[in-house]
Amino acid sequence: FFRALEQTGIRLNEPQIEAVRAVEGQVLINAGAGSGKTTVLTCRTAYLMLVKRVPPRNIVLVTFTRQAARQMKERLLSIPGVTQAMVGQIITGTFHSLARTIYFHRLANPPRIMSEKQKEFMIEQITKEMATGEQYEPETLLSLLAYLKNNLFVVGDTWVTEEVEGLKDDARRVLKRYEEHKRENNLIDYEDLITGCIETLRAHPDYLAALRRRMAYVMVDEYQDTNIAQYEMIRLLSAEASLCVVGDPDQAIYGWRGADPSIILRFPDEHPGCTRITLDINYRSPAGVVGLGNEVIRHNRKRFKKELKVLPGEAGLPKYFMARSAEKEAEEVLSLIERLVSSGEYTYNDIAVLYRTHSTARTLYEKLLLSGIPFTTHRDDPTFYELSTIRPVLDFLRLSLDPYNEEALEGILPCLYISKARYMKEIQIVSIQRGVSYLEALVHLDALPSFQRRRLAEQVGWLRSIARLSPLQAVREIRNEAGGGYDKFLGSEQDGAVTYHKEMLRDDLFELEEAVKAFATVPEFLAYVDTILAQKETRRKTQQISQGVTLQTIHSAKGLEYPVVILIGAIDGVLPHSIAVDPEEKPDYWLHKKSEEKQDEALEEERRLAYVAITRAMRELYISSPQYFRGKPVPVSPFLLKAFQSVPQVLSPRKS
Ligand code: ATP
Ligand code: MG
Repeated sequence: FFRALEQTGIRLNEPQIEAVRAVEGQVLINAGAGSGKTTVLTCRTAYLMLVKRVPPRNIVLVTFTRQAARQMKERLLSIPGVTQAMVGQIITGTFHSLARTIYFHRLANPPRIMSEKQKEFMIEQITKEMATGEQYEPETLLSLLAYLKNNLFVVGDTWVTEEVEGLKDDARRVLKRYEEHKRENNLIDYEDLITGCIETLRAHPDYLAALRRRMAYVMVDEYQDTNIAQYEMIRLLSAEASLCVVGDPDQAIYGWRGADPSIILRFPDEHPGCTRITLDINYRSPAGVVGLGNEVIRHNRKRFKKELKVLPGEAGLPKYFMARSAEKEAEEVLSLIERLVSSGEYTYNDIAVLYRTHSTARTLYEKLLLSGIPFTTHRDDPTFYELSTIRPVLDFLRLSLDPYNEEALEGILPCLYISKARYMKEIQIVSIQRGVSYLEALVHLDALPSFQRRRLAEQVGWLRSIARLSPLQAVREIRNEAGGGYDKFLGSEQDGAVTYHKEMLRDDLFELEEAVKAFATVPEFLAYVDTILAQKETRRKTQQISQGVTLQTIHSAKGLEYPVVILIGAIDGVLPHSIAVDPEEKPDYWLHKKSEEKQDEALEEERRLAYVAITRAMRELYISSPQYFRGKPVPVSPFLLKAFQSVPQVLSPRKS
């Protein structure tokens, strides 16, 4: 078997072979990036089928993403002796797809999974109905609920704990009502797939026993990013199975979504006598890249020390460059991509650009869109101007130019605290009867209390006046004045409501200020936005959007590899992101940790992100930082600055 494998170019090393052969009992592979963890799972699956003659239908392969599941199947098919029919019978998928299969199988009428929009709308309705004293941001409540479910504090009707920091009585009532509503309408959230599966397994011992007989060999990739609920699901299913989990605690980057890296670390305690295997040779990247990765991650205090080695080969030093601004950085990246491709060594598909947050990549996205270079984004993400934070600001601008713009008016009503459902019809009627614009019709809404009408009259006058301002001034005015301040509206700061999304939202608004700076007038800017949106639409309709340069966040690049990786925005405040550094900020995902702990963990998770980004490169790694970001001079990412002092790279960063 191992000799046949060599024909495919994979000559497994000793510990890798040991891991493939250890097919009984429990196996834990805790190993660094690119050391062949996923490869071992693939080979182990083939070994089970071809050598141990295990029927493929008894093998379960759990991956972190659907993309990873597809890749795993492709890799399996390249092994001699593995047939399409075999691969088709293996139970592969993500935790959620597996859970869905198990959970829905027992139901005559499976529920529908709600979209984010539907969920938010439902929460809004309930908050209104219940007339809670406080205004809750739906996103915040929903992420709180997801947290509760990921930790099994809520399973079906049962609230295992009522005591959650940051969850006030009103909020809990809203969430409970929300759960009832869902049940009445046969709807579920994404998280309910896992908890629903667990409930089903607990309630039906016969079904569980049958599944256990079926799932004799269970393997889980990226185990460092499982949460309590996923852990419980696997624990239930694999109680009598051979279980092999692989992961790298240094690549745990989903803490904010409830993943708990201590689960992988506890594995040996929970399975005494398990086989533990360490892999320490990185086969993916050249020495220079691996060296940089080691040097970055070394500074995390909460970790098990391990040093990745490489086989002798090209030095492959990481290449670093600085650009004056994000704009210039994007231009440099574009010409770098063109140079790499025209050298004939790479195709567009070989190149990936990685970044910490979507808004960091706005300029690059727009330049690529207008350049005609083929590129692909994750499920064709919305453009920056379609984000829910940004759209209302654009609508204010549009309306300031054209008070008859009905769509724009609809877009801003929520920001003026006016119900669209209740007043839109009336606005249209008033506009026709009085012969005034939609915007002016607001002043004549008789059903509104007089103080609100007075305020609206001021707003209408104010909005008409901002059209003449520079786009930057206009955006700032909107942030401060619209409906009493758009920033305030986004943060929902009144009445001490829950405000944890604030920082990420403000990030978008600062990026918007950056975007408008290039334009002298509001109409010019809006025309540019329309071009971008139209271009995106054409691209969606006509082009293949699954080919070309990959643009993705570091989070979604996990487990993947590319010949050329370009990491942009390597600056302080982006990597690490300011939410992880600033003690004033309270991102929702660290809400449930104690504050000192929260700070450390947040920063170490950012460092792991840097490590994940670096270790995606198979041949060349480029890293860049703008010197000015959103108008201010910014230091280079401290993670890299530190590492660059002890590992060589091409072109050194200057300390700023
Ligand atoms: P990550 O931590 O990023 O998930 P990983 O540990 O899962 O990485 P793999 O993706 O399995 O690593 O392997 C990284 C690269 O190294 C792949 O391109 C794989 O084909 C190659 N590789 C792994 N083991 C060997 C080997 N023994 N010989 C040659 N190439 C190998
Ligand atoms: Mg992997």
